[in-house]
Amino acid sequence: MQIIKSNKTQFEYDIQALLKSFYPEWEPRMLAPDSQIRDRRILEGEPVMELIFGEDEVTLEMLNGLHNIHVWKPEEEEGTAAYKNAFKRFFYVCLCKETETTLPWGNLTGIRPTKIAMTMMEQGNSGEETAAFLRQMHLVSEEKTALGVEIAKREMEILGTLHYENGYSLYVGIPFCPTTCLYCSFTSYPIGAWKKRVGEYLAALEREIDATALLFRDKILDTVYIGGGTPTALSAEELERLLKKLKSAFDFGAVQEFTVEAGRADSITEDKLRVLFENGVTRISVNPQTMKQETLDLIGRRHTVEQVEEAFRLARRVGFTNINMDIILGLPGETAADVRHTIEAVQALSPDALTVHSLAVKRASKLGQWIEKNGATAYNNTEEIMEIAARGAAEMDMVPYYLYRQKNMSGNFENVGYSKRGKYGIYNILINEEKQTIAALGAGSITKGVFPDDRIERCENVKDVGQYLGRIDEMIGRKQKLFAGGTGWGRS
Ligand code: SF4
Repeated sequence: MQIIKSNKTQFEYDIQALLKSFYPEWEPRMLAPDSQIRDRRILEGEPVMELIFGEDEVTLEMLNGLHNIHVWKPEEEEGTAAYKNAFKRFFYVCLCKETETTLPWGNLTGIRPTKIAMTMMEQGNSGEETAAFLRQMHLVSEEKTALGVEIAKREMEILGTLHYENGYSLYVGIPFCPTTCLYCSFTSYPIGAWKKRVGEYLAALEREIDATALLFRDKILDTVYIGGGTPTALSAEELERLLKKLKSAFDFGAVQEFTVEAGRADSITEDKLRVLFENGVTRISVNPQTMKQETLDLIGRRHTVEQVEEAFRLARRVGFTNINMDIILGLPGETAADVRHTIEAVQALSPDALTVHSLAVKRASKLGQWIEKNGATAYNNTEEIMEIAARGAAEMDMVPYYLYRQKNMSGNFENVGYSKRGKYGIYNILINEEKQTIAALGAGSITKGVFPDDRIERCENVKDVGQYLGRIDEMIGRKQKLFAGGTGWGRS
């Protein structure tokens, strides 16, 4: 247990997020202002901090170890955004001093660092001004500042072709997979257990499709993304039924991109790929995560490296000219040499895009439990490993085009989407930058309404498939309520 006591209940989220970033193994606990911390038995080696917001200064006292005291005399007015930002800088610098380290993304704790850069540039700031802001206000490293600004500029260029005012995107979730991966934190159920009820799921989805198509009948559909889960866990016939329904309900006339996650190699067959291709899917993802068989076995992917290679080649033969591959850095036991091997094996296939994730371990995932059980520190990600992946993407003539962060990411890094020019996944940018309404259908999906007054509102579908089937009218009703204003959404 690690204890932080503060005499004011403010900035709790930022304090905890920064502590987790510096000390990933901690589960920091904030004590209430009236707790008697000094009377408590302080465990040997357990960090205990006391944060005192005084009249003119703020102090952070380390109550064990070296008993360091850090002092900040704020010039900003309390309660303002500037005060909060300055506090975050102070707290971050204290932790840098305590740990003798810095974080690549400085004191940024949110998941969308590029959104800050993009917003600033949209407001007329130059790339240099934006970079200076990230470095000075958020203490972001030189490398990450350059990456963030480069990506934000590219995103603006890519999104230039979208119908901002009148357009929207569509997400369809298929919450089934061949088996559950150890690190999974998505809505996913083993297809074997649901095989007999997939028809029911598709029938519910079809009702949601019809209702959503009606709701959005005056809008322009820009991108479509079928994810999950693993959509290709469905049979070829089931996929065909879904795709045909989508195409008959929505107007695909202006769709710029139609993506289907074909993530797991053990779900891919020629029949399914043909159904996707013949129904106008333009982009698929075949995800190895790693090309090291031992790791695939450990993380429960239940497919071989050869299956990934075969699935990829099959997709090319069927005709796909935009294939993404996902890999994960920081997997248990993987070294820089393993990542180099994965990159070389991916390069041999020559995909059009490569998405590089840093492992994020959620406690609820099976991997979180595995790590706890095995007392593992066997997963890590380093600057060197990130560099191997970035260099590998550059060697394939790819550029970084979107980026996001998650909680509990190995090494405090980021997920980066790389792509050859013109093969970008536009939907990936949209989901991160929140520039356009995304209507999301299926169990566990989250619809995001982006309104002209900059409001962003969400409505969620239940995750449990049984609940989704039984409460489909309620799910439809939630979307109807969110967009009750009719055609007024979309940012201008
Ligand atoms: S393929 Fe993806 S969604 Fe399916 S179990 Fe694995 S991590 Fe989860």
